[in-house]
Amino acid sequence: MTSYLIKNARILGGEPQDLLLKDGVIAAIGTRLAEDGATVVDAEGLIALPGLVDLHTHLREPGREDAETVLTGTRAAAKGGFTAVHAMANTFPVADTAGVVEQVWRLGKESGYCDVQPVGAVTIGLEGKQLAELGTMADSAASVRVFSDDGKCVDDAVIMRRALEYVKAFGGVIAQHAQEPRLTEGAQMNEGAVSGELGLRGWPAVAEESIIARDVLLAAHVGSRLHVCHVSTAGSVEIIRWAKSKGWDVTAEVTPHHLLLTDELVRSYDPVYKVNPPLRTEADVLALREALADGTIDAVATDHAPHPSEDKDCEWAAAAMGMVGLETALSVVQQTMVETGLMGWSDVADRMSARPAVIGGLTAQGRPVSVDEPANLVLVDPAYRGAVNPDSFATRSRNTPYRGRDLPGRVVATFLRGRATVLDGDLV
Ligand SMILES: [Zn+2]
Repeated sequence: MTSYLIKNARILGGEPQDLLLKDGVIAAIGTRLAEDGATVVDAEGLIALPGLVDLHTHLREPGREDAETVLTGTRAAAKGGFTAVHAMANTFPVADTAGVVEQVWRLGKESGYCDVQPVGAVTIGLEGKQLAELGTMADSAASVRVFSDDGKCVDDAVIMRRALEYVKAFGGVIAQHAQEPRLTEGAQMNEGAVSGELGLRGWPAVAEESIIARDVLLAAHVGSRLHVCHVSTAGSVEIIRWAKSKGWDVTAEVTPHHLLLTDELVRSYDPVYKVNPPLRTEADVLALREALADGTIDAVATDHAPHPSEDKDCEWAAAAMGMVGLETALSVVQQTMVETGLMGWSDVADRMSARPAVIGGLTAQGRPVSVDEPANLVLVDPAYRGAVNPDSFATRSRNTPYRGRDLPGRVVATFLRGRATVLDGDLV
């Protein structure tokens, strides 16, 4: 196996140091390191972060290989600096059995670009009626610990309570897509001034906040763990802050797009901005940034949701919801959180690697950049400036809201257990 000698990288933005990656681990850190036979990587000016971990990725396989496969999705993940992703369960068939989660897990192993940790469905077929075999998925080769009906909300309070109780036995967590279904029937965008002007059916903040309020109370009542997916409103932040102040075991994630974009973009009627939960207001964006900075929101998660062009290049009402995000996540976080002075690079490592790994129960990911730790690493050029060009993406889909937009930063290299998956910005 090739060893790599990385010269003059700034670990978490600190002073330049050399790192030796050998036999899958970080074998040495210091100045003027030398190693016979190692491939030298010049990292002058680059930041070294632990490999990023995504809690929320739609890989679409099995069933929608026209949008993404495990292979294309993990290649996109590697290009975005990720060394582990959690694959959401809303595939065809749904990942609600040991068979399907093991299939996804095996495809991830074969891809070799990024660890793939399958998420299991909470209910059979994501129908919200009957609990899936959570214990069987937990005991499977895929060792599922995160369960979610993402795309749909577990809206039945009794089912949600049972799921929360069930996963306690093996330290699992329920990741909720908080969307009260009756309040959001036919919803097309955020409910507010812009939806009123455009005459589009609104998705009100209260539809998210009411489910989060119920769920934090349920989690506290049964003494279990709740994770809130893609928090998008200022009110949701307040509820989570309150739940945490009570000492309840609640964690939350925010997507890059909810940290940057607002519902003003919907005025273009370009379905690339159609996403669930919808883009909210500037006040929500600012509250989400503040909550990520102060730790109320634990993690950034991409909600990478690839769609083929025929599902996006159509009129607004008919278009699918979702955006690709793996290859732009770190740049958006740099722009919204680092360049605004809200977070440093060590905070980025915490919110995009360490904490998501802990929430997902991944013990060999999200580790510190230290000697003897697994060599999962990303090198970022923070000085890079350039317009996003989707033609260069590794994902099979092109539904990015950032086409042509200037975003800072570029992933130069990614290492998975000491093996380069990306070098000089290109897949290896
Ligand atoms: Zn969702």
